[in-house]
Amino acid sequence: MTSWAQIAAGLPQQQPIGKYTAARIGGPADYLFVADSATTDDQLVALFSAALQAGVPVRVIGGGANILVSDAGVRGLVIVNRAAGFDWQADGTVTARAGTGLLALARAAAARGWRGFEWAIGVPGTLGGALVNNAGAHGSDMAASVVDARIAHADGTIETWPAERLQFGYRASALKHHPAPFFVLTVRLRFTTDDPDAIHARMAEYTAHRRRTQPTGASLGSVFKNPPNDYAGRLIEACGLKGCQIGTAQVSPLHANFFLSDGHTRAADYRALIEHVQQVVQERCGVWLEPEIQFVGEW
Ligand SMILES: Cc1cc2nc3c(=O)[nH]c(=O)nc-3n(C[C@H](O)[C@H](O)[C@H](O)COP(=O)(O)OP(=O)(O)OC[C@H]3O[C@@H](n4cnc5c(N)ncnc54)[C@H](O)[C@@H]3O)c2cc1C
Repeated sequence: MTSWAQIAAGLPQQQPIGKYTAARIGGPADYLFVADSATTDDQLVALFSAALQAGVPVRVIGGGANILVSDAGVRGLVIVNRAAGFDWQADGTVTARAGTGLLALARAAAARGWRGFEWAIGVPGTLGGALVNNAGAHGSDMAASVVDARIAHADGTIETWPAERLQFGYRASALKHHPAPFFVLTVRLRFTTDDPDAIHARMAEYTAHRRRTQPTGASLGSVFKNPPNDYAGRLIEACGLKGCQIGTAQVSPLHANFFLSDGHTRAADYRALIEHVQQVVQERCGVWLEPEIQFVGEW
């Protein structure tokens, strides 16, 4: 077995990871590994467990579409998991590698006449991140289709977690704040058949809705979860915060729950804007907005 020291010697060090995130924000990772579809699950698990067993922390990210990485960056190893690929079964189940893009899977499901993943059209990121976050849109989410997921642990063992064990909630799962390191390798989903024209029509409608209502600049999508019976965007807008800016981080003038960055935005400014919005909404509306995004790295 290759030691961590040998592996580490071949990895890029102190590489900024902002370019692997949707907001284009974030300082360096001590060690970086970018997995692509040629990377096998065995290789991923070996790397993950070698680092952890040597006492090096590991953070797996997918599309970086739901994380704000600090300016100081991430200590230890960051694995950017873009290891993609999927395998269809005749019964409507598909086993997809966690690095598969949501868009790619949504398009492939539609092309085969499987319904249930249309919501993912226009949602950036990978299946692994979507599982952790129970991503969803247009009244559906991952929880509606997930059968199970294969998850690797620090000691290199792999377990299959059925949907019930994943305990999906609104933009939440048992994995989102899981205390021990884990690596989602594959996710199995189940879909049902439908008329391909109807599936494509729904996807076109969702895409048109996004184009109308969401900004195109770099962002993390919705920063906050919607509070019960309300919308975070409505509350932020009602407080007059559309367009509010700290440094170059800005509350989108189009959709108040999207915060824009310009590619040079500091994570500290983006986070300060989040905290400012939280405080103003609390003072004026009496609602404490809970972030949907996760803060990653050294703050
Ligand atoms: C423009 C825009 C629009 C968006 N619209 C939506 C929307 O409509 N609905 C919605 O739900 N979300 C939306 N999002 C947020 C985001 O797209 C989703 O949450 C997406 O599922 C995140 O996937 P990711 O691969 O980018 O995850 P990341 O941001 O890379 O990671 C999220 C979390 O999962 C962990 N993780 C990722 N992969 C693995 C793995 N293989 N093993 C272990 N842990 C892993 C990370 O460590 C992190 O904790 C939007 C984002 C943007 C930028």
